[in-house]
Amino acid sequence: MSLPQDPQSRLHAILARIEAARKRSVRPAPFTHLIAVSKTHGPEEIEALIKAGQHRFGENRVQEAKAKFAGLQARERGLELHLIGPLQTNKVHDAVALFDCIHSLDRPKLAHALASERDATGRCPDLFVQVNTGEEAQKSGVLPPMVPELVRLARDELRLPVIGLMCIPPAQEVPAPHFAFLANLARERALECLSMGMSADFETAIAFGATHVRVGSALFGARH
Ligand SMILES: *Cc1c(COP(=O)(O)O)cnc(C)c1O
Repeated sequence: MSLPQDPQSRLHAILARIEAARKRSVRPAPFTHLIAVSKTHGPEEIEALIKAGQHRFGENRVQEAKAKFAGLQARERGLELHLIGPLQTNKVHDAVALFDCIHSLDRPKLAHALASERDATGRCPDLFVQVNTGEEAQKSGVLPPMVPELVRLARDELRLPVIGLMCIPPAQEVPAPHFAFLANLARERALECLSMGMSADFETAIAFGATHVRVGSALFGARH
């Protein structure tokens, strides 16, 4: 895929595709937020996108995000930082301090750790429950039959701010059935948000009601 050279043109091209996909969908979500996935890209590349008007960013690793964004958050107002990669309980303290939203809640132990951190600090990011819709052995995410129990524990019992569901469809499969399935699960549990769709398939995800699309390479080019 060839990308326009400057970050501003790339951003505007993606935003235009998001809008067009929303217009085409029969039942679009009330909003679709673009999360610019900046993993492996440096602060200069991130700052160029901020200058172009982007303020939501996604990172996979807590330490990498902290190194790149601590300074940026102090300088730039209104940045919104999303953790889209797996979270170990020993990183919960740093993650809660840094991120505005965590997309990878996938087990009871992590829900309990987030609740303890919330009780200690008074702070908790918005949360997505990550669902392993393809039931892949290597992939993180809760298996579909366990979703109701994890949502009950996190949202209803621990009173964590669970806003939606997230998935990463298996790379070798068509994504649409996974998006449809996730949307159904979210509707059953009365969850409003759907984090789904990446560079290759965000328009499809929007057709199935994505509220948050996570786009990396189509915005930044190939990862370093
Ligand atoms: C890297 C990553 C993305 C972005 O992938 P692209 O294909 O580069 O858009 C989205 N979501 C998650 C969870 C990722 O790890």
